[in-house]
Amino acid sequence: MDTPLLQPGLYIVATPIGNLGDVTRRAIEVLSGCVVIACEDTRVTGKLLYHLGLKRPMRRYDDHASDASREKLLGEMMTQPVALVSDAGTPLISDPGYRLVREARERGIAVTTIPGPSALIAALTLAGLPTDRFLFAGFLPGKDKARGDMLAELAAVPATLVFYDTGPRLVASLEAMVRLLPGREIAVARELTKLHEECRTGSAEELAAHYTAHPPRGEIVLLAGPPGAAEKPGEADIDAELLAAISELPASKAAALVAKKHGMDRKSLYARVMELKG
Ligand code: SAM
Repeated sequence: MDTPLLQPGLYIVATPIGNLGDVTRRAIEVLSGCVVIACEDTRVTGKLLYHLGLKRPMRRYDDHASDASREKLLGEMMTQPVALVSDAGTPLISDPGYRLVREARERGIAVTTIPGPSALIAALTLAGLPTDRFLFAGFLPGKDKARGDMLAELAAVPATLVFYDTGPRLVASLEAMVRLLPGREIAVARELTKLHEECRTGSAEELAAHYTAHPPRGEIVLLAGPPGAAEKPGEADIDAELLAAISELPASKAAALVAKKHGMDRKSLYARVMELKG
């Protein structure tokens, strides 16, 4: 295939998330037509290029790269085509590139995107959860407190929530969802586009039990369906939610969380928390 001459600029190139067959024709054209490929890990991108039968110079880049190395790339893209890839999927999506794109745009450098696979979109298409509104929140934190805070913050958002997660953390994430996203439909999308692709749905309780018995391997996207159409909860339900929330959060935050979720009065729920605690 003859490589078309590329204009100078920055080309953001999505690459497969596990199945080489998902590389786009345009991705191949751009990777073969650029003068340098900025990548997270030259070994990982080197393997991709090898499989595609391409040889291009690669340069390691992430958003913590020194100003000098970013300047060098920005200088090159003024006069030559430069590609940006990540290890897998779409650059900038929980991956490096944001600072490079921002600075390139500020300097009037042409920036083009070559869209393709991304785990979050693949997971959304597979999970059977509502897709009309979703919120992608990146990686769920590994530490209990930070994870609890993030879930508490997002609990009232009327949208499907999408997180990246890892095998060793999945059960803890699901257990936090039992407490902080009670009653939501959950999906675990694992090893997408690969041999052992799996998408399992159920309650957070069911999935936590399953993955405790079968510790998950590989890469994971974790999704939570939107909060249900507000069925008026009874007193016992509210008490159970408050008790679950105060096991993760200070009393005032727990009351605020449950109040927000059900459109209730925060002060009276705080008083109820105090009664429950007492
Ligand atoms: N930029 C990538 C994208 O567009 O999907 C995401 C990069 S992020 C550093 C890596 C995370 O994406 C993994 O830890 C996992 O949560 C998710 N991921 C990537 N590939 C996946 C796959 N094949 N199946 C499930 N999740 C995947």
